[in-house]
Amino acid sequence: MSAAIPKGILGYARYKLKQISYSKESIEINVELERDSRHNHLCSVCNQKASPERRKERTVKDLLFHGWKTFTKVEYYEVRCKQCGIRVEHIPFIRPCARATKRLEEAVAWLCQHLPLTVVALYFSLNWKTVKNIDKAYLEHRFEAPGLDNITVIGIDEVSYRKGHKYLTCVFDLNDPHLIWVGLGKNKETLSKFFEQLGKERCKRIKAVAIDMSKAYIEGVKEPCPHALIVHDKFHLVQDFNKVMDRIRIDEFKKADEEY
Ligand SMILES: [Zn+2]
Repeated sequence: MSAAIPKGILGYARYKLKQISYSKESIEINVELERDSRHNHLCSVCNQKASPERRKERTVKDLLFHGWKTFTKVEYYEVRCKQCGIRVEHIPFIRPCARATKRLEEAVAWLCQHLPLTVVALYFSLNWKTVKNIDKAYLEHRFEAPGLDNITVIGIDEVSYRKGHKYLTCVFDLNDPHLIWVGLGKNKETLSKFFEQLGKERCKRIKAVAIDMSKAYIEGVKEPCPHALIVHDKFHLVQDFNKVMDRIRIDEFKKADEEY
């Protein structure tokens, strides 16, 4: 008995199956696809009709199929688009220049939300750098850069990584609380990069900045936003107050020991 897998399940829109081969030794399936010539060539940037220039081929990795590694070889064309110039043509199931199908990239990106990159790389037999690039591209697509207009009240704080050896400076919009900027380091220069990006006009509109009592941050804010009110948040004030109280307590104990 033989049966064919419905084309809709395979998900190779605008393409026809040319050949499928497999290797029991490497537990690999190789799928070869050819363009369905009934469809026009489309530019991968603007999705408009474009004229074919040069035929090319690319082999990309696909999702595991019943535990078998799957590779898909596609033919495609470099096209001349009236709007965008020379580009690669649109392939519905592969992003331009990607080395994996969209469905594999989506699976990788989803797992990266729950597992370390190295585990995801191991599961899909991918290089961890490939996994990192897929995750980065997905996040960039999913979360567009936040707008910096209409910001009047911001909060600045640092977070550490690499076991406290390295720092990131995070800037938040406190009117509509969300992260708007992240920079490497926690000094005045780090912060100046944010204000440079914000620009002089938008800096003038900053009314208040919540920061800890770091001298670097205070100086980093005062220069670009001289009129902004600097507010030290309660958490850091209480933290510093407790440090002083501890110091006094220790000193008083020592004095008491010496006196009696
Ligand atoms: Zn185009």
